[in-house]
Amino acid sequence: MQKIILHIDMNSYFASVEQQANPFLRGKPIGITGKRSERSIIATASIEAKKLGVKTAMSTWQAKKICPSLILIAGDPEKYSEITHRFNKLFFEFTPFVQEFSVDESFLDITEQAKDWFGAVYLAQQLRERLREECGEWITASIGIAPNKLLAKLSSDLVKPNGITLTRSEDAIARLDSVKLTDLCGIGPRMGKRLNDLGIMNFKRLREFPLEELVDEFGSYGTWLHEAAHGREAFEVNVEEEDPKSVGHSYTLPKDTFDPVLMQRYLLGMCEKVAWRMRRDGFVANAVSIYVRYGDFSGNGKQHVFKESTADGLRLFEIAWRLVDSVRDKSKPVRLLGISASHLTHTSESKPTMSIFSAGGGSAFGGKKEQKHLSVLSALDKIQSRYGSKSWTRASLLPIAFQDRASGLGYDHEL
Ligand SMILES: [Mg+2]
Repeated sequence: MQKIILHIDMNSYFASVEQQANPFLRGKPIGITGKRSERSIIATASIEAKKLGVKTAMSTWQAKKICPSLILIAGDPEKYSEITHRFNKLFFEFTPFVQEFSVDESFLDITEQAKDWFGAVYLAQQLRERLREECGEWITASIGIAPNKLLAKLSSDLVKPNGITLTRSEDAIARLDSVKLTDLCGIGPRMGKRLNDLGIMNFKRLREFPLEELVDEFGSYGTWLHEAAHGREAFEVNVEEEDPKSVGHSYTLPKDTFDPVLMQRYLLGMCEKVAWRMRRDGFVANAVSIYVRYGDFSGNGKQHVFKESTADGLRLFEIAWRLVDSVRDKSKPVRLLGISASHLTHTSESKPTMSIFSAGGGSAFGGKKEQKHLSVLSALDKIQSRYGSKSWTRASLLPIAFQDRASGLGYDHEL
């Protein structure tokens, strides 16, 4: 059966997420730098910066020379993966076959939903509209439509930003003949050179080249090349929908510490993050494990299993802190704290927050107070899913939030 595949590629992704988040940056040349060790390299340039000659992987020094007005911003991976999660969730409105290919690229199999190429273009337009509503007008995507992933990815690359490019099966050969060998995902610069050395300068020549000789030269990759040159590819959209076994977070403190208040703050921050991710994905937990690592790199951990399931950060924190306090070797400074919620069960409600708590009731609050707490959480979830993970924080966490932002120290890690 004829497949219809979409490849959705976000345009200047990290830069447009920052521009969406901060109106001051909109319409300006900005460069997102890598984290820590890669601070001196441009990871993504905004569309405006690209127009002025700034390229990905350029050194910030060189980029500033070319474009003195360039605004440099330290990358915020947490924010980007939050938006990635949001748009992939949106894609499931269109089809159950969604493959997250990278942080800013996804494949969708819409064969059933689109029926034909006309329907596919219509769906792509709708999808673009929904993306604008959910993620904001500064986050745009280029969409490729084709009979397989290979051609869909090639097509999405052709019109940027905000393009929709259709390559029907019958146009596949013409499409390939209009691009360079290295434009195809799977043919890198080195492979391009090896093909050129064999006298293969374009896809037309690659199609004519004897398959046996390609296989002699490249093994099974030779077969792939031959198929690709004919616009064929066997790989399907892989749907990875396995439920997670646990949701966790660890944090290396900016400085080793004996201070329990500081530890509590970091632990609460992590518990909030873990709880938020659980609510977002519709899970409740029945176990919490913690891990403490000391300045000398020794460590210990503990798990607690409980009856009443929860997805409340404060509740997780109460348990986690009791565990930390009970295992912690108080003669050693703490370097890293980790928390993980496990024994997860799914809540199939579309708006999980309320149902989680009414079903589990595993909160430290009772009656009216609990109701109030739940409605606050539900409102905070809405804010967070709209504006990202740093849109609110507990007042008690403000000191560390400011300190970390100022120093750039501390290192957190989703598990
Ligand atoms: Mg992209």
